[in-house]
Amino acid sequence: MATSGEGRRHHNLVPLAALISRELRNEKLEKPSVRYGCAAQSKKGEDYFLMKTDCQRVPGNALSTFTVFAIFDGHNGNAAAIFTKENLLNHVLGAIPRGLGRDEWLQALPRALVAGFVKTDKEFQSRGQTSGTTVTFVIIDGWTVTVASVGDSRCILDAQGGAVSNLTVDHRLEENAEERERVTASGGEVGRLSIVGGAEIGPLRCWPGGLCLSRSIGDMDVGEFIVPIPYVKQVKLSSAGGRLIIASDGIWDALSSEVAAKSCRGLPAELAARQVVKEALRSRGLKDDTTCIVVDIIPPDRPTSPSSPRKKPNRLRSLIFRKKSRDSTSKLAKKLSAVGIVEELFEEGSAMLAERLGTDSSTGPATSSLFTCAVCQVDLAPSEGISVHAGGIFSTSSKPWQGPFLCADCRNKKDAMEGKRPSGVKVV
Ligand SMILES: [Zn+2]
Repeated sequence: MATSGEGRRHHNLVPLAALISRELRNEKLEKPSVRYGCAAQSKKGEDYFLMKTDCQRVPGNALSTFTVFAIFDGHNGNAAAIFTKENLLNHVLGAIPRGLGRDEWLQALPRALVAGFVKTDKEFQSRGQTSGTTVTFVIIDGWTVTVASVGDSRCILDAQGGAVSNLTVDHRLEENAEERERVTASGGEVGRLSIVGGAEIGPLRCWPGGLCLSRSIGDMDVGEFIVPIPYVKQVKLSSAGGRLIIASDGIWDALSSEVAAKSCRGLPAELAARQVVKEALRSRGLKDDTTCIVVDIIPPDRPTSPSSPRKKPNRLRSLIFRKKSRDSTSKLAKKLSAVGIVEELFEEGSAMLAERLGTDSSTGPATSSLFTCAVCQVDLAPSEGISVHAGGIFSTSSKPWQGPFLCADCRNKKDAMEGKRPSGVKVV
């Protein structure tokens, strides 16, 4: 008995160790490399950016390295852009439960991004400084790209095959009808500036405040329906890789996504970023702060830029985002990757905090977050936490006693964002 048991254990141990080392090797081998460059032309000095390549999911473990790129386009001053650049990443990472494996960590990111954006906004507003900022925040882990954004600093993907797609939506009142409706329903007024004689000029703005954006961080002097809740999209690139172009509206007011992507194909990332800025200035001049980050995600066996000239560009081909189905196997994912299809893992743009934070039962391990505010992460006494679902329009379909929970302060902020609290200035 004892002998056979021992023999069996021995027999199991060896393949397990081999399996682990093979997995580690594979993870290292299969990880794409990331090349990047940034270029900027300043007009008002309110654009800021972040490029951080040494982040680690597991501190001290080089295999858990991920990279972060972000652009912050400030308005009415630069304080909000600077504050967000310095604090947002920490607030996002602080909202991810501890001890998660890689897949769980990536799954937890969309919700953590929402919490991190709201916490950063709340903290900045508590400082009593004016100014606000757009945020386009990109996290790259292996082939998985997660983008969270408020405002109109766009992130586009130029995938292999020449298909260009947006990984963000523009939160601009002028173009975004859905956001106009939300702002109006929350008590804001949308209209243009009118000059003497009644003529209306300029883009659609939101009153009070006169902001052209419907989402931002900061902006304490506008209506609270200008929310910091980001649109989030998570995609998995095919093993052919791709190029990301992240830029402030100084670029996008001059160039379409397609033109920007085409203008720099074949150039390495540093030159590509410069080329995009040059192209924008050539067509429109320096009217605004103009910042561009180009990031190439390159297969490990191909050390050159993924956007090198193609033999036969197929103009008719469009990028196919395939929604991930619950039962999709890794085999299927590998097949999709092999034929160059970008897999969409997550997409959500709702401005409702309750929808974005979900329920604890659906978001994996919740034991540690039971008595922590889901937004600002402060510890709550058992009697203090207010369910994100309590008393809201979702309370009929959800369980008001179930987490995630908010502290009283964050609950107030949630109500204000949803237009349930008068936001100071009344517009008739
Ligand atoms: Zn809180």
